[in-house]
Amino acid sequence: MVRWFFRTLNQRSLLAEDDSYGRIPLFPMQHLKIYLDGQFVDEPDAKVSVFDHGLLYGDGVFEGIRFYNGRVFLLEEHLDRLYDSAKAILLTLPLERPALREAVLETCRQNNLRDGYIRLVVTRGKGDLGLNPNKCSKPTVFIIAATIELYPEKYYTEGLRVNTVPTQRVSPAALSPAIKSLNYLNNILAKIEGNLYGAQESIMLNQQGFVAECTADNLFVIKQDKIFTPHVSDGALGGITRRLMFDLAREMGREIKETNLTRYDLFVADELFATGTGAEVVPISEVDGRKIGSGRVGPVTEEFIRHFKVRTQNTGVPIY
Ligand code: PMP
Repeated sequence: MVRWFFRTLNQRSLLAEDDSYGRIPLFPMQHLKIYLDGQFVDEPDAKVSVFDHGLLYGDGVFEGIRFYNGRVFLLEEHLDRLYDSAKAILLTLPLERPALREAVLETCRQNNLRDGYIRLVVTRGKGDLGLNPNKCSKPTVFIIAATIELYPEKYYTEGLRVNTVPTQRVSPAALSPAIKSLNYLNNILAKIEGNLYGAQESIMLNQQGFVAECTADNLFVIKQDKIFTPHVSDGALGGITRRLMFDLAREMGREIKETNLTRYDLFVADELFATGTGAEVVPISEVDGRKIGSGRVGPVTEEFIRHFKVRTQNTGVPIY
């Protein structure tokens, strides 16, 4: 009964049910506590201005972070990327790093969660209707800790069916894909195209026709026991989970090579998998109607999944 309850609790999805808090309240009317500009407020009271440039222009940066077993996973790496993204768009965070780290941990504590997903958002703040950020005097910071299930469990054993889509990854010359900004319309359009194909995820190419990444995940290709992933300069976000794969590969006595990849390389791959904080390590079994390898989860992917799970359970910054 208790196991059923917690399984059900974990299966409630932040993304799938946008009218819920991503969990079953332990007591009726218990609201999520949201960190908002230095205060913890009940979710219905967690409001930002309609003049916030995060909303008006997607002007801001964010992180999605997981916590497992009472520990925030790869927290320092996520904070590094957040401060780098903010620096790249000339946004000065109103909190020093130790205070922000503590705010993340306290948000988990306030919600009595040991496993879940954190959304840490910093917007340019409230301004006027023009886009000039000089009119925004103070960034808005909010932190949500809830649960998430990006893909149903069966895809981790069966693999995802994905499509390459017409919407190209935005050029690094226009907007660096290394910046994890609030401006996700490029990825959302690609996601919509994948939805139209009935795919579970979409693969985006860059202007040269090389594979960049999925809409919210990085991509890995296995061919004849060798592992490849696109360069960040091909339009991939420098994923924290992507970087972890390089560590895990070393642990496994393997090597990952960054290279240009085309759709052909995907079609003839022995195995494919995607990585992301939300998705974790998820196999891909079909691309554009081509079955990948045997169409089942391959041995190298399985090895990465196994090593990844061990890391998530044994490392991280303690919350309690
Ligand atoms: N690419 C994009 C576009 C993303 O938004 C993300 C984050 N979900 C990723 C890749 C994976 O990055 P990470 O492993 O840091 O979550």
